Amino acid sequence: NRQIVLASRPTGAPTPDNFRLENNSIPTVKDGEVLLRSVYLSLDPYMRGRMSDAKSYADPVAIGETMVGGTVCQVVESNHPNFDKGEWVLGFTGWQDYGISDGEGLIKMGMNPSHPSYALGVMGMPGFTAYMGLLDIGQPKEGDTLVVAAATGAVGSMVGQIGKLKGCRVIGVAGGEEKCRYATEQLGFDACIDHKAEDFAEQLAAACEQGIDVYFENVGGKVFDAVLPLLNTGARVPLCGLISQYNATSLPEGPDRMSMLMAQLLIKRIKMQGFIIFDDYGHRYGEFASQMTQWLSEGKIHYREHLVEGLENAPEAFIGLLEGKNFGKLVVKTNEP
Ligand code: NDP
Repeated sequence: NRQIVLASRPTGAPTPDNFRLENNSIPTVKDGEVLLRSVYLSLDPYMRGRMSDAKSYADPVAIGETMVGGTVCQVVESNHPNFDKGEWVLGFTGWQDYGISDGEGLIKMGMNPSHPSYALGVMGMPGFTAYMGLLDIGQPKEGDTLVVAAATGAVGSMVGQIGKLKGCRVIGVAGGEEKCRYATEQLGFDACIDHKAEDFAEQLAAACEQGIDVYFENVGGKVFDAVLPLLNTGARVPLCGLISQYNATSLPEGPDRMSMLMAQLLIKRIKMQGFIIFDDYGHRYGEFASQMTQWLSEGKIHYREHLVEGLENAPEAFIGLLEGKNFGKLVVKTNEP
């Protein structure tokens, strides 16, 4: 059983030394348990938080423990009445080949799912995050200008497309020309601005002539700096993630702008609300799943995966996720079905 464990906690950006690949024995299945073998492992930005022991909404991974993560698995042995050998499930077995489960939290996917890895992306946590954050907190209205950062990523690509379905003018922010072109040509966004451009703030302002009504925040940092002066009175800001800060070891240099931010929130009556998807919206997963299934079947949602072959390549791929090297939802193919 190959397992990637947390070897040490990173200071700043994670490095390959923070991970260790071990080869341990396959666990044995007790009564009421199933043995799962992963086929796909999801890599997600929140894993950076689990590598750190700073206080957060979830406990950190202990040193020497297997890295956590969502997986699509097949049941290889079952001592559980509700699961059959060969069946596919969505689980949380982490960065390893085999995991044991007592069935709690496993989602059944049947014997022959058509796109098993979709359960980690468009039909899973990132898609659900986009749907609830945008619709429940963002409250988009027809004709609104919606800006979304990390626009071609797992969450951002869904936010923008759902925004288009709701009649918004959608402006993406992404890293590099190729991603920006993809956002307009494939995802149907009205414009997409490269945050690496020197005149990024000016370009964003020019694309948002009517100001910004909804800003879906995935990134923070200089992208938010450019967005803040453009927010309209009554704007909504679903605060989903701050990936540009996940490797930060200190507060940014420069003057303290907290009072300026608070004054803007007050004067413009801006609503900014954080959310943690399953904690806040777990009970609404069914509503999301049926709507997204319908949109997918009608060809209204375009979904791009960035597939990496081999569990051993997970650390490098994860490090790249925090540098914008992924193009689409990052998934590792760990084993052949
Ligand atoms: P993505 O697939 O969007 O991948 C991350 C992307 O972030 C990169 O491709 C890169 O895109 C962008 N990025 C990385 N570093 C920077 C930087 N320094 N400045 C600007 N952009 C950067 O990941 P996800 O869709 O899975 O996650 C997006 C956000 O949503 C994250 O912040 C994540 O933590 C958050 N999230 C929150 C949840 C919640 O419950 N609140 C649940 C799920 C996700 P580019 O090259 O375009 O810059």
